[in-house]
Amino acid sequence: MDGLVFDIQRFSIHDGPGIRTTVFFQGCNLRCFWCHNPESQPLSPRVQFFPDKCIVCAACVEHCPHHAHLMVDGRHIYVRDRCQTCGACVEQCFAQALIIKAKKMTVEQVMADVERDQAYYVNSHGGVTFSGGEPTLQAQFLLELLRASKERGFHTAVDTAANVPWRTLEQLIPTTDLFLVDLKAFDEEKHRAGTGVSNRRILENIRRLGQGSATVWIRVPVVPGYNDDAAELGKMAAFLADLPAVRKVELLPFHHLGASKYESLGLDYPSRGLKPPGEEAMASFATIFARCGLPVAGT
Ligand code: SF4
Ligand code: SF4
Repeated sequence: MDGLVFDIQRFSIHDGPGIRTTVFFQGCNLRCFWCHNPESQPLSPRVQFFPDKCIVCAACVEHCPHHAHLMVDGRHIYVRDRCQTCGACVEQCFAQALIIKAKKMTVEQVMADVERDQAYYVNSHGGVTFSGGEPTLQAQFLLELLRASKERGFHTAVDTAANVPWRTLEQLIPTTDLFLVDLKAFDEEKHRAGTGVSNRRILENIRRLGQGSATVWIRVPVVPGYNDDAAELGKMAAFLADLPAVRKVELLPFHHLGASKYESLGLDYPSRGLKPPGEEAMASFATIFARCGLPVAGT
């Protein structure tokens, strides 16, 4: 069994308790305009080109069978429309101006990486987190990784936007110690405007998880001008306060760390003008959830 993975991050301390290894799955079925991992969104690999790293050596020009790299007046031009994602140029680019992050990995290959830090999991009460992209879109691969992790005694977490049929999430419950579920907006039209999809199924899935036996942490990206108002956050808090399995709410402030990735993919950066929320604003948003009796982190 194999799947498409775009990164494996060791010593992660932001994706669940303790020290963890986070496995990022390729492919997502939301299109959040503030996404800081746009390379994870397509269901298939993409070439990223970072012009500031290019040393204009022309190795890619020679090796591309589809003539997607050109040298014009000493400048490198990458013609994305011609690219067939064969990877030949990436292998030749020693400056790492060209990369393809997603790669096929078997369950055994992923677990070999995850096992490397098992001593840290024990000492820190950490474990492994499966994230994305959206890991539940590769449900069978995810399920096998969860089973393999539990066989080794690792604490498991699944980081999901929950925009999948309930049965997809339900089958994960026996092998998932913690669900990290994103909630981006409570208002349906706002959710659709920001992510491209309705939140009806997401809210229903959160309600079911929140009334069940699994432990759930909710993650709210705080995006200026989108969901950073008391009314919107108050509706989320009231909804979550009625769900006994929701043990924590994490507020994640918007940031610009993903900006250069948009350029590398030939995409416009839609969040250019946004100002990340300050500490004072984040603290006041936290009180909205705390007033409903919800433990809050990340402020
Ligand atoms: S191989 Fe890499 S460094 Fe050389 S021209 Fe192509 S992109 Fe630039
Ligand atoms: S990935 Fe293949 S087709 Fe695409 S630019 Fe590189 S060599 Fe050409």
